[in-house]
Amino acid sequence: MSASSSPTVAGAAGRWVVSVKDLVRSPGSMRTLEEQWPAPEALSTPLIGIPAGSAVDVDLRLESVHEGILVTGEAHADLVGECSRCLDPIQDGITVDLQELFLASAPEGGSDEERLVVHETVDLEPVVRDAVVTALPFQPVCRPGCQGLCSECGIRLEDAPDDHVHEQLDPRWAALAELTKTSESGTAGPEMKTSSDETEER
Ligand SMILES: [Zn+2]
Ligand SMILES: [Zn+2]
Repeated sequence: MSASSSPTVAGAAGRWVVSVKDLVRSPGSMRTLEEQWPAPEALSTPLIGIPAGSAVDVDLRLESVHEGILVTGEAHADLVGECSRCLDPIQDGITVDLQELFLASAPEGGSDEERLVVHETVDLEPVVRDAVVTALPFQPVCRPGCQGLCSECGIRLEDAPDDHVHEQLDPRWAALAELTKTSESGTAGPEMKTSSDETEER
C-alpha cells in the first residue's frame, strides 16, 4: 500500500475511514462530525443486529490530543431481530457511546489491539462494531415478560388459556402410559381375533 494513493472505498466499510489530516497537523484542534453511513457487515449477534447497508447515524467529536486523535460520541441505528422466546420479529433501535483513542504511532511493546492513525485517517468501523456487538442482547425479547412458546405444542403461551398444560409432561409417566397400553392390547388382542375368526366361520 503506497502512502500517496487514497484508500479504496470498498463497500460500506470504506465509508467509515475518516481523514483527520487537518487535526493531525493542528495539535489541540477539535471538530465535530455528524454523518449517516451505511452499516458494515457483522454488526449483529445471531438473533439481532443492524442489517448491513442500513443507515447508521454518527455524532462524533474528533480531537487532536498529544497521543493522537481522540474520538468520542455516539452512533444510532435501527435493529432488526427475532425474539429469543417467541420468535416474533423485533424492531428496535440502538444507541451506543463511542470512545477511542487512535494513537499517532504504535507504542513500544504495544499489542495488536491498539488503534492507530494510519495515513492521517482513522477507521471508525471496528470502533462502532465493538460497541454495537457488546451492547446487543444475546437473548433479545420482543418485550419484557414475553412468555414465549409452549415447549410441547409451540403455541404462544400468552394466547393459550391459563390452564394450558399437556399430560405426560414427565417422560417417566409417558413410559408408564406406554406400558399400560401394551398390556391392555395384549389382553384385548386374542379376544378380538377369536371373535373375528367366529365371524369368518359363519
Ligand atoms: Zn417474544
Ligand atoms: Zn402446549
